[in-house]
Amino acid sequence: MDSPKKKRARKITILATAGLLPLILCVIFTWVDARHSVQRQQEATADMLLAHAETISDQAWNMIDQLRRFSGKQCDDVNEDLRQYAALYPYFRAVGVMQDGLVTCSSAFGSSHSDIKTMLLRPPPENRKAWWMLSVAGTRAVKDRPAVIFVRDTPSQFSTFALIDGQYLLDFMNAIDRNQDSSITLQFGGGAILYSDIKDGAVPAALMLNKTSSRYPVTVHVTSPASDVMRNWRHGLLTFVPVALILSLLLVAVINNWLERKLSIRDRLRRAIVRREFSVQYQPVYHIATGQASGVEALMRWHLPDGNQIRPDLFIAAAEAEGMIVPLTRHLMQLIAEEAKSWSVPPDFHLAINVAAEHVQHEDFVSDIRQFAAAMATHQSRITLELTERSLLSDGEDVVQKLQLLRSEGIRIAIDDFGTGHCSLSYLQTFPLDYLKIDRGFINAIESVEGETPVLDAIIMLSHKLKLKVVAEGIETPLQLQYVKDRGVVFIQGYLYARPMESSVLMEWLQQQGQHPLG
Ligand code: C2E
Ligand code: CA
Ligand code: CA
Repeated sequence: MDSPKKKRARKITILATAGLLPLILCVIFTWVDARHSVQRQQEATADMLLAHAETISDQAWNMIDQLRRFSGKQCDDVNEDLRQYAALYPYFRAVGVMQDGLVTCSSAFGSSHSDIKTMLLRPPPENRKAWWMLSVAGTRAVKDRPAVIFVRDTPSQFSTFALIDGQYLLDFMNAIDRNQDSSITLQFGGGAILYSDIKDGAVPAALMLNKTSSRYPVTVHVTSPASDVMRNWRHGLLTFVPVALILSLLLVAVINNWLERKLSIRDRLRRAIVRREFSVQYQPVYHIATGQASGVEALMRWHLPDGNQIRPDLFIAAAEAEGMIVPLTRHLMQLIAEEAKSWSVPPDFHLAINVAAEHVQHEDFVSDIRQFAAAMATHQSRITLELTERSLLSDGEDVVQKLQLLRSEGIRIAIDDFGTGHCSLSYLQTFPLDYLKIDRGFINAIESVEGETPVLDAIIMLSHKLKLKVVAEGIETPLQLQYVKDRGVVFIQGYLYARPMESSVLMEWLQQQGQHPLG
């Protein structure tokens, strides 16, 4: 068994893990959520900006369409109209017409014969189509402010153009970006890149998003710095850490309580041994052939100081689960040995004790039983060990050897609760056995003496074949007795014959009734 120090360390580890788990999950969850939230913001920003850019582009193309009616006209005739268009419609810096690749008339400069390159301060794109748009860093009129040009370009013929002032776009970009530290860029037709305000101090970029319009060659690029994610994360942590903390505390409390209870069952069993709260009752076994009590089965009882009892199947199961069954069985053997000092029983009297699977596999099993046998030696009584099918399951070879050894020293082996374990029957041939105790459940199934109880009948037949003596447990009615008697069962145990009783009561009972046949 583990030392108290080790147990304490394990408990602390379990509690620390339980306490940290919700916090770690909270940190991970809020981090992932913070990134998602920044990505959502980027998506929203990009969508908004693209929608705005598309609206402006729509207006520019409408304008281009309207300018077609100036085809073939002199600049003096259209100049006033052009100026009015540029002034009345929002967003436009200039509109104009071109002939043979030269700007012939514009709202900004009137009649001029400059080429597009002079107007845009850069050459137009090569391989351009008939309709093209391009963002530029500045124009002839306003050199240091970006613009976007839209052109309906028919080479060597009449063409039109509209120039959008980039400031509208820049203002919009800055407005939607105001609450964030991200930087946004916008690009038309692969031209100059329009930047939103450059934020102070270049921060490392954490997340980037590129999005292109489905209608026009317009691309938005949103870059968010790590600080954006961190800010969202901090916000998430502030919200969720208190919840996680409460969860942590609850979890630690629940697990601590559970561990304490687990500990305390073991402690309670230990204390009950020291305080001698356990006692033994003995239930006589009837030998049908001789009509006398052939022996007893020792059954443990736990009386609490408050007068209540705990059911043996419950505390035995708890003792098995908590690794206390070995000390408890040793205690039982001690109690029996003490009580047996005052016994007077016939020489071949059988005393059966229940031994748990864990004890059979324990390294001290053989020496424990030998010690018990030595303490009982004065009575020449036969000790029978009642094992369940589970005891014979694991470590087969080892158990066979131990049982053979004990058997050679006069100990008998019974298989208890036969038929209830989920076990193959092969062990019946492998293990050295003397008795087979049929579980009460099968006896309960008996309905009439003539009727058939197939499984019970099969078990009895099997035992005969294997030359095992059968003990029928839980015989409560004469009918059940008659039934098993008719089928050659030799021993019975049950309330019909006798209930479990204390040592002193047993001695009197043996004197008075133990010698008399049943019924
Ligand atoms: P078990 O070994 O099958 O013991 C027989 C159980 O059937 C006993 O219950 C006994 O009182 C009960 N019994 C006997 N005749 C009748 C009957 O005619 N009708 C009915 N309804 N019941 C009858 P108990 O004493 O409550 O023990 C229950 C179980 O607890 C035992 O079943 C055994 O598995 C375990 N147990 C009891 N004492 C010990 C012990 O000292 N060590 C170990 N390992 N297990 C024990
Ligand atoms: Ca038993
Ligand atoms: Ca039994």
